[in-house]
Amino acid sequence: MNSQQEEHELESSTWLDKPKYTHVKTRSDVHIIPRGSWEKCSNCLKQIMTSSLISNHFVCEQCHHHFYMPCQKRIELLTDDNSFKELFTHIQSTDPLHFKAGSEPYKTKLQKLHKKLGINEAILTGTATLHKRPIAIAVLEFRFIGGSMGSAVGERLYQLMNLAASKKLPFISVASSGGARMQEGLLSLMQMAKTCAGVQILSTSRTPFISLLTNPTMGGVSASFASLGDVIISEPQAMIGFAGKRVIEQTVKQKLAADFQNAELLKERGFIDMIVHRHNLKTTIATILKLLG
Ligand SMILES: [Zn+2]
Repeated sequence: MNSQQEEHELESSTWLDKPKYTHVKTRSDVHIIPRGSWEKCSNCLKQIMTSSLISNHFVCEQCHHHFYMPCQKRIELLTDDNSFKELFTHIQSTDPLHFKAGSEPYKTKLQKLHKKLGINEAILTGTATLHKRPIAIAVLEFRFIGGSMGSAVGERLYQLMNLAASKKLPFISVASSGGARMQEGLLSLMQMAKTCAGVQILSTSRTPFISLLTNPTMGGVSASFASLGDVIISEPQAMIGFAGKRVIEQTVKQKLAADFQNAELLKERGFIDMIVHRHNLKTTIATILKLLG
């Protein structure tokens, strides 16, 4: 991720509104906002009361900069009140490689994150209703090892896709990930094929699949199920790609454009169907599902 601030002024192109805003992407965008009294917007530099930011769905009131949103808040944003029922929590990561980074074993890291975040994997999967329509929904959590897709994340996605196909529930995924999980090596890479097979099951059963990409969606997640939605939506200025910009620049020895890998450019090139302001996501998804019948 590029830590140098890059400023762009642009106009969104959603169906529902066209707010003007500016945006700066920083590494800190993906971190959860601490429960302090005030938070500084990394784009317009305005001081915002943390409580106001949370009640505004983590969007800056001044410039519409989209802060990172935790998975539990995503569920609240996109589903009807208290309708979410989490499934497949029994599917958990193992440690097949006995991986250890520094002094901390992988297993210990998983246990610590479970205690800290209240989730035992980098994903929430379950069923809910959206404007009273039953849906299956999966939300990745970046704070949990960068939202990386290990064997448990891939298996939960696959199981939910099967359930959605068998019950004809529209499938909605919300991606926020650095890619495959290195701690599980090849088993993580296998999840790319597995989740793509799950999308094929959705397709064969003619079950709608809406993929929402948020900042950041990278690596093995962007290169598998997240790019295979019947409709692909992104939040404004989300970074979406495979390898990071800095890595590519060092490899090809060329300076890349400032808007490289941002959602607006990808929409222009046809990779994304629409860019939607967070405040309009629920209504937009409900409208699409209605149109798809
Ligand atoms: Zn702002």
